[in-house]
Amino acid sequence: MQISQKITEIKMAPAPGKITLIGIGPGSVEHMTKRATEAILEADTIIGYNTYIKLIADLIEGKEIIRKSMTEELDRAAEALKHAQQGKKVALVSSGDAGVYGMAGPTFEMLLQVGWKPPKPNEDGAPHGIEVEIVPGASAINACAALVGAPLTHDFCAISLSDLLTPWVNIARRLEAAASADFVLALYNPKSGRRTQHILEAQALLLRHRSPDTPVAIVKSAYRRRQDIQLTTLANMAECQIGMLSTVIIGNSNTFVQHGLMITPRGYSNKYHKTEGSEGKKTALSGEKAGRSLSRSGLSGWLRIIQEEHTSGVSTAKLAQLYKLPEDYIKRSLLITPEPSSKQ
Ligand code: SAH
Repeated sequence: MQISQKITEIKMAPAPGKITLIGIGPGSVEHMTKRATEAILEADTIIGYNTYIKLIADLIEGKEIIRKSMTEELDRAAEALKHAQQGKKVALVSSGDAGVYGMAGPTFEMLLQVGWKPPKPNEDGAPHGIEVEIVPGASAINACAALVGAPLTHDFCAISLSDLLTPWVNIARRLEAAASADFVLALYNPKSGRRTQHILEAQALLLRHRSPDTPVAIVKSAYRRRQDIQLTTLANMAECQIGMLSTVIIGNSNTFVQHGLMITPRGYSNKYHKTEGSEGKKTALSGEKAGRSLSRSGLSGWLRIIQEEHTSGVSTAKLAQLYKLPEDYIKRSLLITPEPSSKQ
């Protein structure tokens, strides 16, 4: 009697709950990952912003659903913890990727504050304590880029124009840094009913470094019912319709638009002839080799050049000005022995 009672107790003991942070992608079921769908089906409780709950309505019938408004991120995280403590499997759904301006950060911050640690598996392999899984999804930057061509084929960055939690000065400094370093930019949260000036400020900062003709794509509601794509220029972007559901992609100095496609070159023209060789293959420019750094402008080539320039009398200050790099970095580079060119 005693033994069977004990067994019943063990069986009845609630399993530790789980929080799954799910990125559902831009909005259509076809662009959601298999794991995201599975994780939603596995969950007992679904927590999310109303719009995202609607996007996955077909998958969540019969489950406990907790709808929260946009500004209730901390509430959503606390609610998830409360349910996981009761042994439930909770799915916190975010659009795009949960780690990109999404719920992943606030959830971990809240969990750490209450003393949570990633659980180690028990001897039987089951987790000991609340498990957290993050399911990646295609972020708006990926979704919007795919709809306009190939604007992100070179270095890019994402900047959110929302000053709800970030001081404007930080945002402006990041815009300035990205603009001066010639990154392709994706602006998240570009404009809302109350925040209309921010996009004009971003445009002004970018125009200090980039041509007014720089291609710009404004994608609203990518892969959703009211999807809308506008291709414009840096000079004209502020006149376009931009809202909370738009992402603005601004090209770098090499980005071009052809046949309605926005394309940022990968840099092949630095290395290969434009036309193909006799065997129908691209041939490398003189001195360049496939799979090797650029001979003159790769790291070793550049080190050799600045070291020669310095030996022939060009000051470190002048080199810093010439290459738009800090003088202490130039000084450091003058001390490095470049790898021999045969190994490049
Ligand atoms: N976690 C989300 C981003 C949330 S921030 C992600 O990874 O995509 C909200 C901002 O994301 C919006 O203001 C908009 O700039 C962008 N965004 C989200 N979904 C979008 C979509 N389907 N189309 C265009 N932009 C989108």
